[in-house]
Amino acid sequence: MSFLLPCPNCGPRPVDEFSCAGEVTVRPQGAPSLRELTSYLYFKRNVAGVQREWWCHRLGCEAWFTAERDTRTNEVLSIDVPEPAGPAAPDAPPLPDTPAV
Ligand SMILES: [Zn+2]
Repeated sequence: MSFLLPCPNCGPRPVDEFSCAGEVTVRPQGAPSLRELTSYLYFKRNVAGVQREWWCHRLGCEAWFTAERDTRTNEVLSIDVPEPAGPAAPDAPPLPDTPAV
């Protein structure tokens, strides 16, 4: 199935120009247990509905961004370019992980 995905730099483009790196996850903090690491690496939510995913405009500007996409209809609800990781503010929510490429 083909659909248009809006790149933050190039605008709407065919999804064939992009690579999807999967749903956005949050890395376990501190010294995680083996169970926590296994769950983080191998178990995905894989929802039938809206999920936030990492995308790269592989055949274009090569920008990484996140998109909220309905997996049932491929409707893209929003895109976002996360700020680079830096010192976290005390009340800041955890940043999503950068996907392994
Ligand atoms: Zn682009």
